[in-house]
Amino acid sequence: MVVTKADVYEKVIFAERPVCPHCGKEMNISECADTGLSCGSGWGTPYFFVCFNDKCPAFVNGWESMKRDYGRKCSYRCICFPGSRKTEMMMVFSFSDGKSEIVDEDVIATDMARGTAADPAVQELVRCFESKNVKALLSNLFDDKVYYKVRLKTVELIGELGQVETIEPLRNHQFRDQRIVAEVRDAIKRIHEISHTRECPYCTEFIEAQATTCSECGRGLS
Ligand SMILES: [Zn+2]
Ligand SMILES: [Zn+2]
Repeated sequence: MVVTKADVYEKVIFAERPVCPHCGKEMNISECADTGLSCGSGWGTPYFFVCFNDKCPAFVNGWESMKRDYGRKCSYRCICFPGSRKTEMMMVFSFSDGKSEIVDEDVIATDMARGTAADPAVQELVRCFESKNVKALLSNLFDDKVYYKVRLKTVELIGELGQVETIEPLRNHQFRDQRIVAEVRDAIKRIHEISHTRECPYCTEFIEAQATTCSECGRGLS
C-alpha cells in the first residue's frame, strides 16, 4: 500500500497533540520544509510537531545559552515526530523561523482575531496604519524578531495603504520566508490597484495604469 502525504496528514491531524515538556503547551503541526531549516526531507515524515510558544523556556533560554557559549544568534524549538513520544530540539535563527510551515493556520488566524484588542503589537500596527506611518510599518515588516503573525498583518496593511513609495523598499528587501514573499507580491499588486498605477514592462518605472506610452522611457504600451 502506498502511503501518500495526505494519508499521513490525516493521521497527524487527528492524532493527539503532544505537549511540550518545557512549557506544557500543545504543539503545532508543522510541515517539513526542504528549504532553509534543518528539518529536511531526511527525517522521513512530511509532518511533525513543533512548540512555537515564544515564551517556552527552552526557546527563551536557547537565545541566551547559544550567545553565551557559542556567540551565535540562534535558539531551539522543541519538536516531536508523529508516533513518537520522544522530543528533540530544532535550531532556529529567528522568531518566525519555521512558522511558515505551520499547517494549522487557523491557529494563527484565531490568535490574530482574538489578539486584536489585547495584543499591544497589533494595536501599535493599527495606529501606524491610521496615521499612514509607512516607515514604521516597513521597519516592522523587515524585522525578523517581530512576531510572524504581526509581520503577516503588516504586509496586508501596507498593501491596503496603497502608497506607491513603499513598492521600491518592498521589492528590494530579501525576505527569507516564502509565505511573506508571496504576501508581499500581493501587497504590491494591491498598491498599484489602489493608486491606479502599474509597472512599465521596459523600464520598470511606475506609470499610470491607463497610459498608452511610458512617461519615463517613452515606449508604447499595449
Ligand atoms: Zn515549549
Ligand atoms: Zn518605461
